[in-house]
Amino acid sequence: SVPAAILSGLSAAARGGVLFKGGAALETLADVRAFAFDKTGTLTTGKAVVTAIRPVEGDEEALLSLAAGIEAQSEHPIAAAIRSAAAERSCTPRAIADVTAHPSEGITGHDAEGEVWAGNPRMAARMGADISLGSLSDLRDGAATVVYLGRGARLLGAITVADQPRETSRAGLDALRGAGIARLVMMTGDRRPVALAVGQRLGLRTEDIHADLLPGDKVRLVDALSRDGRVAFVGDGVNDAAALARADVGIAMGVAGSEVALQAAEVALLSDNMERLAAAHRLARRTVRIIR
Ligand code: ADP
Ligand code: MG
Repeated sequence: SVPAAILSGLSAAARGGVLFKGGAALETLADVRAFAFDKTGTLTTGKAVVTAIRPVEGDEEALLSLAAGIEAQSEHPIAAAIRSAAAERSCTPRAIADVTAHPSEGITGHDAEGEVWAGNPRMAARMGADISLGSLSDLRDGAATVVYLGRGARLLGAITVADQPRETSRAGLDALRGAGIARLVMMTGDRRPVALAVGQRLGLRTEDIHADLLPGDKVRLVDALSRDGRVAFVGDGVNDAAALARADVGIAMGVAGSEVALQAAEVALLSDNMERLAAAHRLARRTVRIIR
């Protein structure tokens, strides 16, 4: 049977908005040596806003309408930003069929004229589109996330999207550091300049900021961290599910996170407050001290 201390630990955690699927996860969390965090929607609000619309062909309206059509069904924070920018300008999304999500790359679909896509440089490369060409080349090293848009190998333009760290991310990470967690790591599918800008604001060490990752890369980095002790992974997206499952403790953002992430995780954060995560970690340690 489950020790009374664990049961009361679980219910205290639940009152603080942190749901554990079982007592084992609470015990494991107490032993964690490294915390790895996804960026978009985890350390950042995921409430991104569109900061620039840069057509290569046609006008801003047409580019935004295409982007909103491709992103119509996506639950990615980037998609929500693009849809609200379109709504604000009363710009009707284009009808796009056969939409397919490519985690950590972007989205593809079809309209009457053929294949269209939205995504990062990797997606552009997959389509044979050259993003170093002409008017968009200045976007590559900026601190905003760039969503390239294209039709087959033709680059149609780019939309930049910016996201802010959660107000509580810095304090939550500092509290974990204060509790003796030396390894605090960021793992993101976003590009390096964006990852560095966010990571440095949160006090992460440059060597602990990993960018341009595919879902499988996050898993490999979790494995590498595991060599030095137990690892917790905190994430929100479909692209985090494998890393959440592989970590000793998977912790999903429960409110705005994806269903897939929640299922892969042992712990759900019902509040977006990162200080609650640090509090749950302290609680796990106190609980384990009672039973061991
Ligand atoms: P993170 O790991 O920080 O949560 P993701 O792996 O979800 O980020 O996304 C990584 C990158 O993949 C994004 O920065 C974006 O360039 C691209 N991407 C992913 N999903 C989409 C989408 N729905 N639309 C456009 N780009 C996307
Ligand atoms: Mg994410």
